[in-house]
Amino acid sequence: MELSKEQLLERNFSDLSWFQQYNVQLNAETALPYFCSLGNPFYDRTSLNQQVNMGGLSLASIHQATGIEYALIHCQEPILFVIRKQYKDGSNEIRPLQEYYIVAPGYIYQAPDASDVISHRLLAAVYHFGRAFDEASQQAAYHPSSGYYWKSNTSTADDFDRKESTSKDKIVTYQQRYRFDNLFRHYIDRFRPKPQSTITASTTQTAPTTTTIHTTATATTTTTVSTTSTNNNVAATTAVTTTAERQAITTFICRSLTTKPPLSPPPTRICIVGSGPAGFYLTQNLLKLLDSKTTTIDILEKLPVPFGLVRYGVAPDHPEVKNVINTFTKIAEHPSVRFIGNIHIDGVSISLKQLQEFYHIIILAYGSSIEKGLNIPGENLPNVYSAKSFVGWYNGVPETSQLNPKLDHTETAVIIGMGNVALDCARILLTPIDDLYKTDITEQSLEILKHSRIKHVMLYARRGPLQVSFTIKELRELVQLKHTMPKLDLQDFSQITQEKLDKMERPRKRLTDLLLKTVNKGLIKESVSKYWYLKFFRAPKRILGADHVEGVEFDITEPIKDSDCFSENLQVQLSEDKRTDTIDCGLVIKSVGYHGLQIDPWLPFDVTRGIILNTQSRIHDRPGMYCVGWIGRGARGVIVDTTSESYVVAKRIVEDVKLNLIPNLNDIKSGGDGLVELAHTKHIKPIAYIDWKLIDKYEIQNGMTKGKPREKIVNVEKMLELITASKKTNEQ
Ligand SMILES: Cc1cc2nc3c(=O)[nH]c(=O)nc-3n(C[C@H](O)[C@H](O)[C@H](O)COP(=O)(O)OP(=O)(O)OC[C@H]3O[C@@H](n4cnc5c(N)ncnc54)[C@H](O)[C@@H]3O)c2cc1C
Repeated sequence: MELSKEQLLERNFSDLSWFQQYNVQLNAETALPYFCSLGNPFYDRTSLNQQVNMGGLSLASIHQATGIEYALIHCQEPILFVIRKQYKDGSNEIRPLQEYYIVAPGYIYQAPDASDVISHRLLAAVYHFGRAFDEASQQAAYHPSSGYYWKSNTSTADDFDRKESTSKDKIVTYQQRYRFDNLFRHYIDRFRPKPQSTITASTTQTAPTTTTIHTTATATTTTTVSTTSTNNNVAATTAVTTTAERQAITTFICRSLTTKPPLSPPPTRICIVGSGPAGFYLTQNLLKLLDSKTTTIDILEKLPVPFGLVRYGVAPDHPEVKNVINTFTKIAEHPSVRFIGNIHIDGVSISLKQLQEFYHIIILAYGSSIEKGLNIPGENLPNVYSAKSFVGWYNGVPETSQLNPKLDHTETAVIIGMGNVALDCARILLTPIDDLYKTDITEQSLEILKHSRIKHVMLYARRGPLQVSFTIKELRELVQLKHTMPKLDLQDFSQITQEKLDKMERPRKRLTDLLLKTVNKGLIKESVSKYWYLKFFRAPKRILGADHVEGVEFDITEPIKDSDCFSENLQVQLSEDKRTDTIDCGLVIKSVGYHGLQIDPWLPFDVTRGIILNTQSRIHDRPGMYCVGWIGRGARGVIVDTTSESYVVAKRIVEDVKLNLIPNLNDIKSGGDGLVELAHTKHIKPIAYIDWKLIDKYEIQNGMTKGKPREKIVNVEKMLELITASKKTNEQ
């Protein structure tokens, strides 16, 4: 989006991760390349510099070229660099258009032009003259006996301060005050003034003579109006050239700061732990509801790659679901948002209390990463896997990518559970290998699936067909899968009459309709070679086998007496006659749900439900901390559910900000910069979004050579190596 002149003047831009990425400091060599980074809203991508960067124009030919060029025209290492935007007409003529200054450690501002500065100064001066006359006229009094006289001044110092601050509010914009307050505070810390005696006489000439912080900024710029009259552009060429001059200015600023309270609140620093759908949608909603000029949002992720289960859960043959990544990318590239990957908040390497030092608001959106167990004998036999591990294997999750299940020794796989994840696993086991080659399923998985002998995939549930938790889309896909045949037991559906069906809620009715059609008619398909089964009213009792899985024994269950078989909450018990059913198989996948992890002992946590203790997303006893997504409400629901939930949570956070319920909101916090510094001290290498894009590009290119949309890197070390190597290549 193109920004107006006013908007650009009220903005600054920084991407300090750029320096980490290229492992350089801000100096005369790097200032211009940094300015020309693509995220910089002041940078014109049609410029000659961009053409050179893209290889469309050689450095040699840039001298004769016509167009907009950016050049470094002044540098005062390590704090100030001035970039000029200029128009070249092909000869040696250059027309200055605009100037920008980069202030250490990397904040870019647009210099206001002379007319802005002068009008601001005039306005300020005229205003104070006016005030003086008003003040004076109020003090003048007349009495017939004594004529005109001056009244004694009865206004208090407080009155004066209050009036003065109101006047400041009127004539100085919020952005101007906020920007300079923070900038000056930073420089006072970095360049502490030496004792007064070291300042030479000449410095007093350049030191501004006004007395408030806001006017310092304009005073500095005004000094330069006369020195840069040729280009109509001012602040950038501030003649602060000697250490002594700099000291004079900082001394002045120090004095101003000690006598004046801060004029405006510092930026609100927000972090979101977890870069899955909940984290991204919440960021999107916060950006809509909060002032993004005064708010920064950092999305922290334990892996070097973003998107949570969208990358690592959604099945490879569901590319359309992964399109949400396009929206997430736009969110991540918003100037107020920063993705910081490879940061694991685990209470040990980095704790939540440490995060509080850097952020005012912390939102936990780290999903539910633990698979529920069955607690039955044999659960740990080889070739018994949780769906989380199995899905992680075919989706390239670094932790489980090397799972390598044995699929070439058995014809039967048992899946315990009847949700969408169970159906995903069944589909991957049954899909013809040639179809899987067109997806982003990992190369290792394809190699194993290619040699799979599995023909029968049997899904088991403790309850009946009216309590299944998969959705119609997933069922339809399985029903329509090539070369496969469903095998359902008509008996399981005997109680479902048309009358009962008509009373069901629409989604359940449609799903049951499809189940009934499948069981009644079956499907006539050519060359059926594989089968899938839905087995109801069976609870796993034990997994059989000595050194590998050989079968599963199930208890037959039945609805508790007089219970409603049509209820979603149907309770079951073991059958009266204690019947069991045993099936031979060589692979077992447990798909009975996920629960969350308490990532930090300091985090209030409901261990039974596996969620953070919260009321309406507000974490108990931790003001300023919230949760969203699976970790807050439990592991159920799909991506769309996180969209609506995150809007509600964002509104609650904004409400709390307005009601002053967030502690220390006026403290200055360093946000991502502080966190990244902390990470470095712990030898953790934070990953920026731009780094992820290198991985992304590599994976897509690698996939293209194999006719796949992407070939994922399945190892964190390799991801980090790739980033380092790409940066080195770019530097050369
Ligand atoms: C196998 C599977 C398939 C699915 N398929 C679909 C589908 O096809 N369509 C659909 O709509 N929904 C699907 N879903 C549901 C969907 O994925 C979830 O609704 C959604 O991902 C939940 O979002 P979340 O942000 O709460 O959690 P997640 O997506 O899990 O994101 C959490 C993020 O936090 C990070 N994290 C975890 N711990 C930490 C930590 N300590 N520090 C920093 N970061 C951390 C994780 O790495 C992850 O990136 C599927 C779910 C699963 C399990």
